Order: sequence, then C-alpha cells, then structure tokens
Amino acid sequence: MEVLFKLQNVRKVYPMGEERIVALNDITLEFEKNKIYCLLGTSGSGKSTLLNLIAGLEKPSSGSILFKGKPLEKLNEAQLTLYRQRYVGFVFQSYNLMPTLTAVENVTLPLTFRKVPKKVRTKKALEMLEAVGLANRGRHKPNELSGGQQQRISIARAFVNSPEVVFADEPTGNLDTKTTIEMMNLITGIARNHNQTLLIVTHDLEIAEYADQIIKIKDGDIESVITK
Ligand code: ADP
Ligand code: MG
Repeated sequence: MEVLFKLQNVRKVYPMGEERIVALNDITLEFEKNKIYCLLGTSGSGKSTLLNLIAGLEKPSSGSILFKGKPLEKLNEAQLTLYRQRYVGFVFQSYNLMPTLTAVENVTLPLTFRKVPKKVRTKKALEMLEAVGLANRGRHKPNELSGGQQQRISIARAFVNSPEVVFADEPTGNLDTKTTIEMMNLITGIARNHNQTLLIVTHDLEIAEYADQIIKIKDGDIESVITK
C-alpha cells in the first residue's frame, strides 16, 4: 500500500467582503495509490474545493497536502503546472472540450503541453478514442457529438497521459441514467486496468457505489469514511 496524498488539518476559508466562508473546516485524510475514492456530499459541502486543493488548483488557508510526501502548498505556480501535467488527469461535469478542435486534437492536448512529438500524440489519442468506443468520431468537433460522446472524449483526454491520479468532479451530472452507468463503468474500468487512482466527486449515492472508499463531507468536515 502506497499513500499518494496525505491531507493534514486542511482548512480553506474564502473572504467575501466582511464575511468569511469556511469551505473546508479541518480535513485530515489519506488517499492510497490504485484505489477508487468518492467524495460524497450535498451541494455546497466543500467537495469541489477539496478536489481543487488536491489537484493543486488552489492553496489551503492552513494545513498541508502531501503528494508522495511532498507538500503541494509549497510549490510555486510553475511547479504546480508541472505537477498537474505529469501526474494528474481531469474530467469535468461540463466536459470542457475545446469547441474549435476535433476529438483527436482535444485528446492530444495534455500530450501537446508535455511536448510529445505529433506522431506519437496522434497515435496515443487514437488508441484512447478506441478505448472509449469512439474510434470513428476522431474528426468530429464537440458540437457534432452527444453529451455522452463528449464525456467519452474528455475521459480519453484525462487518461491519455497515463496520469497517476484522475479527478472527476460530478462527471455524470449532465447525463441520463443509462449514459451515467456506461460512463462510470468506462472510467472505473480504465482506472482499475491501469492501476490508477480515481477521485470522484458526486452528490449521487449510486455513483458512490463504484468506489472502494466513500468519504462523506458535510459543511466542510468529514462526516464518515466507509471502506468496502
Ligand atoms: P460543492 O462542490 O460540495 O458543491 P464547493 O466546494 O464548491 O461545494 O463550495 C463549498 C463552499 O465554499 C460553498 O459555500 C461555496 O459557496 C463556497 N465557495 C466555493 N468557492 C468559492 C470562492 N471561490 N469564493 C467564495 N466562496 C466559495
Ligand atoms: Mg462542486
């Protein structure tokens, strides 16, 4: 068992004029390699904030987030960018595909940032598109694809880099029940086949069923941790 992330007394407070919003109160948690986690909680409970901190998109107000023993909050912006490029993949509720790029081009983006040669990029992107069942949609632009297909493209993009960890924030929030099940099987299947860690944020108890561990968040604190 290898610990990938260790959060120690993590707190995040947003100043709002005179007020202060405590998004995360006091979070102490560990995430192991090769496991599937679900952060479960109602809207406003602090799930996205927690994900953004672990993904290095925001810094904690206090406390520490260790990635492989190194504190993320001590990294500067350039180092955080490298951390995300090397180790992290993202899946968003709204897909976040580039509208002017084709499916293949969207999937190659993380490799472009890492300066992988074009031939290799395209080959890997086509392999990923095949893995998500969209080998025949490579030349399509996002607006020529259904919501479920767009989410498949974004899953291909998240995994193309072979990241150690993939963060998914409400990945099925815009999808119908049938597509949600397909998408959850796809994303958890890829993660398990490649020994990747997956962190899914959701308010949906059925999605949480796919996880090895369910972390329930309420009002910025951990309410319970259920390990299967
Ligand atoms: P969830 O993802 O569980 O719905 P969030 O992590 O987005 O919840 O938000 C937790 C709390 O922090 C909410 O009260 C939200 O309004 C507040 N919050 C989140 N981001 C910001 C921000 N950038 N500025 C001010 N308040 C924020
Ligand atoms: Mg959220």
